[in-house]
Amino acid sequence: MELFATLDTMGHEEVVFFHSKDTGLKAIVAIHNTVLGPALGGCRMWPYKSEAEALNDVLRLSKGMTYKAAVSGLNLGGGKSVIIGDPIKDKTAAEAFFRSFGRFIESLNGRYITAEDVNTSVEIMDYIHMETDHVVGVHPVHGGSGDPSPFTALGVIQGIKASLNRKYGHTELGKATYAVQGVGHVGFHIVKTLLDSGAKVFVSDINQDRVQQCVDMGAEAVTGDDIYTTDAKVYVPCALGATVNEKTIPLLKCDIIAGSANNQLATDECGDELEKRGILYAPDYAINAGGLMNVYIELQGYNEERATRMVEGVYDIIENIYKVADRDGLPTYKAADRMAEERIARVGKVKLPHIKQGRDRYAAARRR
Ligand code: NAD
Repeated sequence: MELFATLDTMGHEEVVFFHSKDTGLKAIVAIHNTVLGPALGGCRMWPYKSEAEALNDVLRLSKGMTYKAAVSGLNLGGGKSVIIGDPIKDKTAAEAFFRSFGRFIESLNGRYITAEDVNTSVEIMDYIHMETDHVVGVHPVHGGSGDPSPFTALGVIQGIKASLNRKYGHTELGKATYAVQGVGHVGFHIVKTLLDSGAKVFVSDINQDRVQQCVDMGAEAVTGDDIYTTDAKVYVPCALGATVNEKTIPLLKCDIIAGSANNQLATDECGDELEKRGILYAPDYAINAGGLMNVYIELQGYNEERATRMVEGVYDIIENIYKVADRDGLPTYKAADRMAEERIARVGKVKLPHIKQGRDRYAAARRR
């Protein structure tokens, strides 16, 4: 990879490589864009096959965070970190390892704020917090916001309502049918809310215990790829990415796709194809921003009521994306990108002097 050419194309500001000989830490932090505020994004630990693979992942994910924060109206930029290696099971070794990561994060002086992601946990964030204030998702006893999943689920429900309104002119969850793929942390909360509203809900998961829990609440189980052909109006992907692809699109019978999974579209062309087929797609990084909003509130001193109010605003964000898509004649995924880019360009012209102030304000709130 020609690194600087790639950074130029993708628009990154800064990429930092950290290595600790003592603990064996090998980490990369990518700061994509800080026009709107400090770059915030999770820390993923993964046994990448090569350093190039790790670098690709962190560049791609950090850019995604810029768009997510921008379209959600947050004063945050986009960043991400990856640690190369297997998840650490030995707790004694974990403390020094993640504290060394925390030291490195501290050296970035607040330009990047880290958080939980794949293979990292609240406990790990607590270790990082021993060395730096620039971490969110710490334990509630340290002023943290706890599990983000209920907030992500609440945001998805709001996005589903906005989508129902767009398609059918009402927001009544109970009047539609749903196919929820993946009933883990986020999916389970969504299923519960849908069932409580009186809706018919189909569920699938590779974990049969989780499926059974949903069946016990009144959902109907389907297996494997049957989730795509289920006669449900709304497909709610809450498991893996890239489930909307050239194989599954012809199978879909739904009118709406609205779920929490990241990177739902295998390619941009899949988003174009949904548009052609009249399937309304709620862009993933906008509808699943509830968890990010929740940690954003943590930066200002956590307050659950404020977090809930902010996450309820996902309805308006999705509705606005649909309006921009209509206005500009774009598929919804492109409309979301355009809204994010336009906000960064607009705010970038007028607000640059406030960025440092904003960062200092967050750090001060965390110290209180
Ligand atoms: P999770 O791991 O708790 O749940 C995912 C579920 O999907 C698990 O129950 C798993 O068994 C199931 N699954 C895996 N492969 C499957 C398959 N092929 N078919 C059906 N089910 C399958 O994860 P989560 O925290 O609930 O997140 C769900 C999705 O939402 C992920 O894509 C995640 O990146 C995204 N997301 C989560 C949050 C959050 O706050 N947790 C925020 C934003 C985005």
